[in-house]
Amino acid sequence: MQTLLALLTLPAPLSPEMQERARAIRLDMRKRRRRALEWKASKPSRSRPRCKAKTRSGALCRRLVVSGRKRCPNHGGLSTGPRTESGRAAVAASNRRRVKTRAASGAEVVLCSEAIRRGELVLAELERRRR
Ligand SMILES: [Zn+2]
Repeated sequence: MQTLLALLTLPAPLSPEMQERARAIRLDMRKRRRRALEWKASKPSRSRPRCKAKTRSGALCRRLVVSGRKRCPNHGGLSTGPRTESGRAAVAASNRRRVKTRAASGAEVVLCSEAIRRGELVLAELERRRR
């Protein structure tokens, strides 16, 4: 009974060789964990961000981006963009149209004019200092 109680209350002190073994196991676990982390980091897919394009379900796309790009192959990551002169012109025209419709919505106009005003103030100050 006495020994049973002792077993329940306190862990028996480990013998020196068992302590050594436990230490070795702990070191090994640490080594394995470090190696696993290095392996994870070494994989190019781990360092590449996710696409995050908005999908039809409304969630963000979780596919890996095409390396060096911002989107996955599904969402234009392989796109070369406009290549011909007329293609570039079409994109520029579309961008101008979009800016115009956005500017027409008011708040942006105020923000832009404020930014322009500040830019003009900065420029004026720079001009003044140059003299
Ligand atoms: Zn995607």
